Amino acid sequence: MYAFAAFGAYALAFVVAFVCVFTFPLGALALVVLGVLSLAFVALGRDALQAMERWMSRRWLRSGRCPQCRMGPVHPRGPAWACRGCGADFAADGSQELPEEPSEDASLVAVPD
Ligand SMILES: [Zn+2]
Repeated sequence: MYAFAAFGAYALAFVVAFVCVFTFPLGALALVVLGVLSLAFVALGRDALQAMERWMSRRWLRSGRCPQCRMGPVHPRGPAWACRGCGADFAADGSQELPEEPSEDASLVAVPD
């Protein structure tokens, strides 16, 4: 549903911009400036969503359930948490600590035999 809403918004913006180019060129220019300026609000929205996610995650972890697999058990590990069910690690602020992915370069290193 979100994907269709996002596509609809972009399609509508395209139609408005396309019509503006021929009828009101200043409007198209204003749309570009507006789009660039709205990046700051997108970043603020992302920060707000992440803060909300961490807050909800902490609530789940305090009640002993894992926010990822919704089961558990979750046991405290220092100031952080770890889930025994799915193996997910969570930092003290509630954000999930993703395991480090092996870098591409590591596989290219020749192993002497
Ligand atoms: Zn889990």
